[in-house]
Amino acid sequence: MKIVELILKHGADPNSSDCQFKPIAAAANNGHSDVVECLLKFKANIDEISPGRGTALIAATMGGKEEVVALLLANGCNVETKDPMFRTAADHAATNGFTNIVDMIAAEVERRKNRDDKLKTLSMEKRTVDPFTIKRSLMASMATNPSHSDMTNQNIDDKLESKLAPLRQSPYSIINECSKCKKYECPDNGNLKLSKCSACLSVFYCCKEHQAEDWFIHKKRCKMLKKMAANV
Ligand SMILES: [Zn+2]
Ligand SMILES: [Zn+2]
Repeated sequence: MKIVELILKHGADPNSSDCQFKPIAAAANNGHSDVVECLLKFKANIDEISPGRGTALIAATMGGKEEVVALLLANGCNVETKDPMFRTAADHAATNGFTNIVDMIAAEVERRKNRDDKLKTLSMEKRTVDPFTIKRSLMASMATNPSHSDMTNQNIDDKLESKLAPLRQSPYSIINECSKCKKYECPDNGNLKLSKCSACLSVFYCCKEHQAEDWFIHKKRCKMLKKMAANV
């Protein structure tokens, strides 16, 4: 183990190999999780395909090496890659009767799917909402839909407000309105020119005065939004 680290430290290429097995696949197949870990530390390609053999995950699976399989999964290896016989690691685990590995791979696939779904929801929700556009579409639907013919401007403003109120609470929405006075429209019925808070880039103000007045309320949220933006 010390020797592997020593050799890598002295500039050996962790991906190089003329053999049938790349170093990481060879270590994986033999269950040397410490060597796999060391190779990963030295930036070996976790998804490197060994000629005629497939990936380290397939190699570990064929050897029934659960500890290495867990290590590779935790390090984000590709689980879909097929060997030259078009078989994935999960296929090998199933045919070899390694039910633990079948379960481990299935659990990881599920975990990644949930994570991707969550990320997708987050990025979908973090969107710029334009009250002016919403208002215009409300007015258009009033004009075309006879059942809305009794709708007044007050109704439209109420409807718009009921759409915006929950979005203002959501950290994933950016609303094109002054965070202080909620103004979004110009008297000439156009979009109001707003400036963004330069710290969080997630709220707008119609003027410097409103930004200053709102700071006491906004500062907590501003810090939180900044932190979230850094994590995404
Ligand atoms: Zn304002
Ligand atoms: Zn801010």
